[in-house]
Amino acid sequence: MVNKIVLRKGKEESLGRFHPWIFSGAIHHTEGSTPLEEGDIVEVLASDGRFLAIGHWQIGSIAVRVLTFRRQPINQAFWQKRLAAALDVRRAIGVAFREDNDIYRLVHGEGDNLPGLVIDIYGTTAVMQAHSVGMHVCRNELANALKEVMGERLKAIYYKSETTLPFKAQLGQENGFLWGEAGNDIARENGLAFHIDWLKGQKTGFFVDQRDNRSLVERYARGRKVLNMFCYTGGFSVYALRGGAELVHSVDSSTKAVELVNANVELNFPGDNRHKAFAEDAFKFMERTPSNSPLKGEDKKSPFKGDLEGLYDLIILDPPAFAKHKDALHNALRGYTKLNAKAFEKIQPGGILFTFSCSQAVNKDQFRTAVFTAAAIARRKVRILHQLHQPADHPINIYHPEGEYLKGLVLYVE
Ligand code: SAH
Repeated sequence: MVNKIVLRKGKEESLGRFHPWIFSGAIHHTEGSTPLEEGDIVEVLASDGRFLAIGHWQIGSIAVRVLTFRRQPINQAFWQKRLAAALDVRRAIGVAFREDNDIYRLVHGEGDNLPGLVIDIYGTTAVMQAHSVGMHVCRNELANALKEVMGERLKAIYYKSETTLPFKAQLGQENGFLWGEAGNDIARENGLAFHIDWLKGQKTGFFVDQRDNRSLVERYARGRKVLNMFCYTGGFSVYALRGGAELVHSVDSSTKAVELVNANVELNFPGDNRHKAFAEDAFKFMERTPSNSPLKGEDKKSPFKGDLEGLYDLIILDPPAFAKHKDALHNALRGYTKLNAKAFEKIQPGGILFTFSCSQAVNKDQFRTAVFTAAAIARRKVRILHQLHQPADHPINIYHPEGEYLKGLVLYVE
C-alpha cells in the first residue's frame, strides 16, 4: 500500500498552482502500513481525500517534493519520459547534439520537473547529483533511464552526491561510477576544450551555468587587459584569450583551481604567454593591484611594478555564493558591495565590469542595489550594458520562481 499524506484544510492551494514543494506545517496526518522513511514515494491528498500529487517524502521544512500531479507509477518508464523531455529542451536550445559543444546541463531539478536531481553532461560522461534522499533511493533506476535516453552518446555515469545529500540522513554515500568508468576528461564548450575534474572538482566539476556569459566576455575582450577573479577552471579566461585579450590574469584562492586554469589555457592556447594565474585571496590581490586613484605609497609586493601599472579594463567577478541562506542575506549584500567597490576603484576609465551573484537568497534588485552602492562608494560613473542570468539549460519552472539564482550585470565604467 502506498503511503499517503493528508493535508490540513486549505493547504492544497499552492499545489493547485503547481508549486512542487509541500512544507511540513501543511500536513495534517500520514497514513500507511509502516512509518514513513525519508525518500519514500508518497501520495498527497487534500483534507477531503481528493488526490493532489505524488512526491518524495523528506525530513525537514520541505516535507514533500512533488514529482507529478497525476496518479501514475513512479518507475523507470516515468524517469525515462522526464529525461527524454529534458533532452528535447536541450536540443531546442541548441546545446546538445553538437560537435563543438558537449558540455551542458541535462537536468536542472525543479526546472525540469525532477526536484532534487541534477545531471550535467561532459562529453560521454554524465555526472548525476542527488539533492534529496528520494532521488538517491532511485539512483539506479535513474541511471538505467539515462542510458536509454542518451544511447550511444553516453559511456559512463558518475554519481556525485557525497556533499549534496542531507547530512542527517546518514546514508554514508560515497561518490563513484554507477556505470562505465573514467574515460577522457576533456569536453567541449562552444569549441573550447576543458579538462573536467568530476572526481574532485567543485559542484559536478565545472560551472556550466556561465556558458552564455563567457561568450559575452569573449565579445568584449579584444585588446583588453582582463582580470578574471574567482576563476576556478578558468572558463572566462579561455574565452577572453580567444576573444583577443591583450593579457588575462586569473585569480583563485585555491591552488587546485590555479592548476586547472593553467591546464585549460595550455589545452587551448599552448605556450600563450598572455595568461598568468595567481593563487591568492581576492581581496588581498585587489589590495595589491594599483588603484585608479593615485597610489598611496609604493607596494613592495605588487606584481604590477613598472609597465603593468594602472591595469585592468575588463574585470570579471564571479564569487562563490555569499549567502547560502536567508539569514546570511545582510552580510552577503555587504560582501558584494565591498568586493564591487574594490573593482570599481581599480578598473581603468572605459573599463567593463562583469559582476555576478549566484546566491539564490539574494534577488536581482538586492544585488543591483549592492552594486549601485559600490559604484557610489568608488565615485565612478557607471552604465548598465547588460543584465545577465542563468542560461536556458538551467531553466526555471514558472511555478517555482525559487529556481532563479544566477544574476549578473555588465557595466561600463567611465
Ligand atoms: N568563475 C568560475 C566559477 C567560480 S566559483 C567559472 O566560471 O567556472 C568560485 C571560486 O571562488 C572557487 O573556485 C573558489 O575557490 C574561489 N574562492 C572562494 N573564496 C575566494 C577568495 N576569498 N579569494 C579568491 N578566490 C576565492
